Amino acid sequence: MLSVPPRLTAFQGFDALFHSIEGFIAAGANLASDMNAREAIRNLAQFLPRAVTDGNDLNARTHVAFANTLSGAVMTLTLLTSQHGLEHALSAYHPNLPHGAGLIMLSKAYFSYFIRNHPCDSRFVELAQLLGMSEAKDPEDFITALENLKKACGVEDLKMSDYGITPDEFETFMRNTREVMGVMFSSDRVQMSDEDIVQIFAESYR
Ligand SMILES: [Zn+2]
Repeated sequence: MLSVPPRLTAFQGFDALFHSIEGFIAAGANLASDMNAREAIRNLAQFLPRAVTDGNDLNARTHVAFANTLSGAVMTLTLLTSQHGLEHALSAYHPNLPHGAGLIMLSKAYFSYFIRNHPCDSRFVELAQLLGMSEAKDPEDFITALENLKKACGVEDLKMSDYGITPDEFETFMRNTREVMGVMFSSDRVQMSDEDIVQIFAESYR
């Protein structure tokens, strides 16, 4: 792990983070997945920026690795939500796009969709608190906390266009997500329409 460069440390640290965040808002979240997700999110919020800044910080690397392992447990204890389905379509058509980077690009529009539809307000407030915003009281605070962590890890400005993605592909991505990763929508507490999915790609595009 010590040889993993800062950029990839950030991308894959966020992948681990989203395994736990998606598991935490999943329809099938349960006592065991929640326990693992809470500890993973706390550890990543605290230690991922340090691991990105100094890859030789063994204590930070250890906590990120621990959180990643817990997030793996989350994935086996409940099904991740459709953000992973949307991302796999991006990286399938553009294999030069790292999985974690694609998730980072989608996350603001994706989770904002759920926050707007209010399926689990208190869980988003708790997620903001787990990310370190102890004073959080609104579901929207989660987006602020997530964007702050992106800034702390230097990944707030990722652009799909830098990886060759063009807006005329959004319909193709949506159909690919439905066909290949359709099962992941069963984990969502709100059901997206095809237009909603295309809209999330569009809102995420830079
Ligand atoms: Zn993943």
